[in-house]
Amino acid sequence: MRAAVIDKFNEPWQVREMPDPRPGPGQVVIKVHASGLCYTDLHAHHGMFPLKPPFVAGHEPAGVIVEVGAGVTDLRVGDRVGVFWNQKGCGRCAACQAGRAGCPNAQSWMHLGGSNAELMLAWASGCELIPDGVSFEAAAPIFCAGYTTMSGLRNADPRPGERVAVLGVGGLGHLALQFAKAVGLETVAITGQANKQKELRELGADVVVLAGDDPGKALADAGGADIVLSTTNSAKQVASTFNGLRPGGRFINMGVPDGGILIDPLVLMFGQRQLRGSSQDERSDLYEALQLVAAGKVKPVIETYPLAKINEARERLETGKVRYRAVVQHAT
Ligand SMILES: [Zn+2]
Ligand SMILES: [Zn+2]
Repeated sequence: MRAAVIDKFNEPWQVREMPDPRPGPGQVVIKVHASGLCYTDLHAHHGMFPLKPPFVAGHEPAGVIVEVGAGVTDLRVGDRVGVFWNQKGCGRCAACQAGRAGCPNAQSWMHLGGSNAELMLAWASGCELIPDGVSFEAAAPIFCAGYTTMSGLRNADPRPGERVAVLGVGGLGHLALQFAKAVGLETVAITGQANKQKELRELGADVVVLAGDDPGKALADAGGADIVLSTTNSAKQVASTFNGLRPGGRFINMGVPDGGILIDPLVLMFGQRQLRGSSQDERSDLYEALQLVAAGKVKPVIETYPLAKINEARERLETGKVRYRAVVQHAT
């Protein structure tokens, strides 16, 4: 198979031949048709994960099962599937026994190989069927960006009539905004770029707030929010925007901030406000996200690249130029 291989950290990925994977018991091999590039792939590129090159990154795959391993009874050759991050828990810890996400020993693409390749190995338990009518390109970003943000929205426990602000409208945030709108909530997009106003409204923002130096004040001046879904990497922006929460508000942090989050303890306490971290959580969140795409209520906005140009896509991602998700397409 052809694959984009990370041979050295911080060096261009090498598109070259790698051995085809074969499925072990409980595993499947997927012919990848499309794979989204996530900011986490840049963390892998920079050596922030305990991985030794050479390896293949990528964790937003959408494709077709071409081979199933022994004991795989639910999935079949020919199924259209995507794969999420934590494909298989240990089965024995408290989280696994309770049927929850959060197994500390779950296996991911880091154990089996990523999806920036023509073929990908996965645990059958990590595959989700792609609904009919959803293209591989539209499905791919849902397996990380979509799943993450739908879990964030659900973990915020939104109630009818509430107002949701999205901080950091990129690959994750543009989906968070659409999910919030699709389930009937009032939406606010917080952006640093005045020239994005029109496109943010087209994505479903009822109100666009210009962040400036103090996004929390800007949000409060615009009426505040009951929920903030944050995907930014800026700890300063997180701390500021927390102050834009209405009393009883919930701030859901889904990004990896560049430092400690210094929030005002009085704002936290007296307004009964909450700061919560959230990542890919209940499997039903992924299902719901895919269903909203199938219903045409959420449309991932993507740029597509052939595998040979994956470094171009990676550089655009690193410099913040991607609108809104880069997806690698494989010839079919
Ligand atoms: Zn990701
Ligand atoms: Zn476990």
